Amino acid sequence: MQDRQMQDRKIEKTVCQRTLKDVAELTGIGLHSGSPVTLRLRPAPADHGILFHRTDVAEDGAVAARWDRVHDTRMCSAVANEDGVSVGTVEHLMAALAGCGIDNVLIELDGPEVPAVDGSSQPFVDMIRKVGVVELAADRRVIRVLKPISVETDHGRAELVPADVFSVDFEIEFQSQAIRRQHLRLGVVNGAFCKELANARTFGFMHEVEAMQKAGLARGGSLDNAIVIDGDTVLNDGGLRHDDEFVRHKALDAVGDLYLAGSQIIGAYRGERAGHAINNQLLRKLFDDPDAWCYDVLTGDESKTAMDGGIKAEAARV
Ligand SMILES: [Zn+2]
Repeated sequence: MQDRQMQDRKIEKTVCQRTLKDVAELTGIGLHSGSPVTLRLRPAPADHGILFHRTDVAEDGAVAARWDRVHDTRMCSAVANEDGVSVGTVEHLMAALAGCGIDNVLIELDGPEVPAVDGSSQPFVDMIRKVGVVELAADRRVIRVLKPISVETDHGRAELVPADVFSVDFEIEFQSQAIRRQHLRLGVVNGAFCKELANARTFGFMHEVEAMQKAGLARGGSLDNAIVIDGDTVLNDGGLRHDDEFVRHKALDAVGDLYLAGSQIIGAYRGERAGHAINNQLLRKLFDDPDAWCYDVLTGDESKTAMDGGIKAEAARV
């Protein structure tokens, strides 16, 4: 019987790696610099992974989008290479790539941070959808969580536990009546990222934005690229995109931060008031323990197991 099951498993189709069909380009403002930045996503071959390339620096501009290259998590997730060349605010783009099931891409930038766009992942999802996605003739390698791993600090808590699919469970609580307590649980498969999380915007409080701008940070920050809250009031003219847009954005951040693992994670993530720092510590703790994870491939109907953004890929290139 077991042999039969093994055979069945062998003939089951595995989920393939994917990349973009063509080059996609977008220009926007960097949140912290306030300067225009052009982002270009270039198709890449199987096993290339996700790599940033700063085209505006004289040094080696290649920066791997990986957990062990994360050097700053105060305002966003920033990665840097050994020469100190850094790319900031990577998480909303990483979330879009994860959510659309893009395994391989070369990301060119002519500035130090990914454009803030509207503060969500939606413009990145749109640019991926517009050029299309192709399958590559290689299995997608995923990271399967084998035992529970958790991180707890004074600020919050996050954990990963074994599960058949990737899911996110997030809880936040703020005193502001605009947010209060919000909780979301979502299996991030079959296009759920694009439907439920992609358009949720980042948020901040007016007094924080003013303090940051005085310190020369968030120069590009405006009501065009964040929800801004003053006391109990949302200042943006159009209001919110979802009643619980805040917790949806925190879930989006977690999807992006966890994609810095280097592959999609198969496991259940749970965060309570967790941010970029805790998410990065969680990955470091996972990879510190060889018994806590293994590489695997996904078999069967990919819409039930994989993050694919609900975007059908064209046939594999051989
Ligand atoms: Zn964010």
